[in-house]
Amino acid sequence: MKQEKTLSAIAENNTTLPSGRGCCCDDDEDCSALPETEPKVMASLSEAVYTMLGALGEDPEREGLIKTPERVAKSLRFLTKGYSQNPEELLKKALFTEAYDEMVLVKDIDLFSMCEHHMLPFFGKAHVAYIPDGKIVGLSKLARVVEVFARRLQVQERLTQQIRDAIQNVLNPKGVAVVVEARHLCMVMRGVEKLNSVTTTSAMSGQFITSPSTRSEFLRLIKP
Ligand SMILES: [Zn+2]
Repeated sequence: MKQEKTLSAIAENNTTLPSGRGCCCDDDEDCSALPETEPKVMASLSEAVYTMLGALGEDPEREGLIKTPERVAKSLRFLTKGYSQNPEELLKKALFTEAYDEMVLVKDIDLFSMCEHHMLPFFGKAHVAYIPDGKIVGLSKLARVVEVFARRLQVQERLTQQIRDAIQNVLNPKGVAVVVEARHLCMVMRGVEKLNSVTTTSAMSGQFITSPSTRSEFLRLIKP
C-alpha cells in the first residue's frame, strides 16, 4: 500500500521527461531514443531502491528517505548513461584529414566509473595517445570516449581496452595507447581498506607495441 503511493508519485514526476526536462545528454548526443521508455525504467529502478531500503531495516517512508528511491534512480541513470551512447559514432563525427604523424596525447582525463562487482565508484585519470595515419580526431572527443565507456558498469581492465579499441577501429591510426590510474571504493571502503592504493591498467596497439622508443616516450610523457 505504502509502496504504491510512492511509485505513483514517481510516475507523476516522470511525466515531465518527454518534454526534455530531466534529460542529461550533452548537446552532441542523440537522446531521441530515451524519453519513451524512461518513465518505466525510472519507476522500476525506484521500486528496487525502495525495496532495498526496507531490506536494510530502514523505513523508506520516513522524511529523509521519502524521495531517496527517485534520487538514486536518477543518479544511477546518469552514472550509466554511457549505455545509450555509441563512442565510435561520436568519434566519426569529428574526423579530419591531416598529415600530422607524431604522437597525439591527451593526459589527465578525469574519469568516474562504477565497478560491476560492487556497484561502487572507481575514479582517477586516463591518458590517451595515438599516432595518426592520415586522420586526426577532435581532441575533446578522446575525453568523451573515455566518459562514455566509464559511464557503464565496468572493470578497469575492460574499460581501458574498450577505449583503445574504439579509437583503433575508427581512426585506424599507427598505434593507440591508453593508461588508466584509478582508486576503487570497493577496495577503500570495504574489505581490505587500502586507502591509497591505485590500480594502473594499460592497453596498447601498433607502434606502441612494436616500437620500444615510442612506448617509452609515451610513458615518460604521462609521468606526473
Ligand atoms: Zn568492486
